Amino acid sequence: MKKIALHWQILIGIVGGILVGFLCIQFAVGKEFVIDWIKPFGTIFINLLKLIAIPLIIVSLIKGVSDLKDTTQLSGLGLRTLGLYLLTTIIAVTLGLGLVNLVQPGGFLSNETREEMLRSFGGVVDEKVEEVTAIEEMRGPLQPLVDIVPENIFESASANSNMLQIIFFSIIVGIAMILLPFNQVEAFKRIMDSGNAIVLKIVDIIMFFSPYGVFALMAALVAEAPSLDVFKALGVYSLTVVAGLLIIVYGVYSLFIYFFSHMSPVQFFKGIFPAQLLGFSTSSSAATLPVTMECTEKNLKVRKDVLSFVLPIGATVNMDGTCLYQAVAAIFIAQVMGYDLSTAEQLSVIVTATLASIGAAAVPGAGLLMLVIVLESIGVSPAGIALIFAVDRPLDMLRTSVNITGDAMVAVLMNKYGKE
Ligand code: ASP
Repeated sequence: MKKIALHWQILIGIVGGILVGFLCIQFAVGKEFVIDWIKPFGTIFINLLKLIAIPLIIVSLIKGVSDLKDTTQLSGLGLRTLGLYLLTTIIAVTLGLGLVNLVQPGGFLSNETREEMLRSFGGVVDEKVEEVTAIEEMRGPLQPLVDIVPENIFESASANSNMLQIIFFSIIVGIAMILLPFNQVEAFKRIMDSGNAIVLKIVDIIMFFSPYGVFALMAALVAEAPSLDVFKALGVYSLTVVAGLLIIVYGVYSLFIYFFSHMSPVQFFKGIFPAQLLGFSTSSSAATLPVTMECTEKNLKVRKDVLSFVLPIGATVNMDGTCLYQAVAAIFIAQVMGYDLSTAEQLSVIVTATLASIGAAAVPGAGLLMLVIVLESIGVSPAGIALIFAVDRPLDMLRTSVNITGDAMVAVLMNKYGKE
């Protein structure tokens, strides 16, 4: 029998999970059954992906950087990559701002729904707001920079939220290796090469289970989802975010690929599809990273030294989907709560949403948390997050897919700057 391609298997897992989730919630004990007996397999799957993320970043980044010819090549690649990340993020946030002002989704929300959302989700949101505000109050303007430099690498490696610190350390090791004579680093390089092969094999093994993993994740998502009425009430807001995300992926990224790479947009989307599906199912760019790297290497033929530098950094700092969503969400909340934002305040959303998306961790719900900062910068009460809380998960799934597609797009464009 011909083997079905992995992305179709994942898609079948997604659809199957949704159907089984719906079926189960028709029965009184269905929700409990899904949570007790199906959801744990989804959690195991995400844990496996997260488990491999840090070893993968360390070996592939050290190997990738040390494979570059010299530090000039690294700084050239680094500056171009970061520049492109910033450019796409600013395009995304500006698009989000344009759309939300055009559609004015705030005008579509009835007073009743508004009251209900604030009542139902007020408590949870208050806790989150307190958490973020307490952290923010203690931080100076340069703190994000300080946070990148770890004081103890083992401590950094103990939490996936410290990915930027791991990246920083791995790049330094790679640079030292470029600067040293080859015979002094040869042995270590070989260890990194084998480490890389081993980690990639583990990714293959994990991916073998991915259809079952996403099946469990989707079934649990449906079982735990709020009622469909919530989606109807927040329909125009959600559609505005979705429209923006679609324009970014199929409009903006297609144009970049078409004009600045040697690949057709169709080829690009076909190659990155499995990673998009996984980003959608896991809502985490970090958990999807191993697969984004695999698709970019095998399907999009991006050089290893380039992608192992571009993608881990992209997963943590480049979040076009998140940033677009934050612009729409912030203005939507302001509209509903009756704030009249000046042009200067709207423009400050561009700056804060860009920074907030860079600072957001590559995990589920991080974008929502960072929205607190965007709202505070324009003087809107962060308690308004309660309004959009109910539909955040599906939008998180979509924006994560967009985030990783943006990273892959930049990797494709940077391909020509690798070692010839
Ligand atoms: N879940 C997103 C990601 O991992 C971040 C967000 O919440 O927007 O890319």
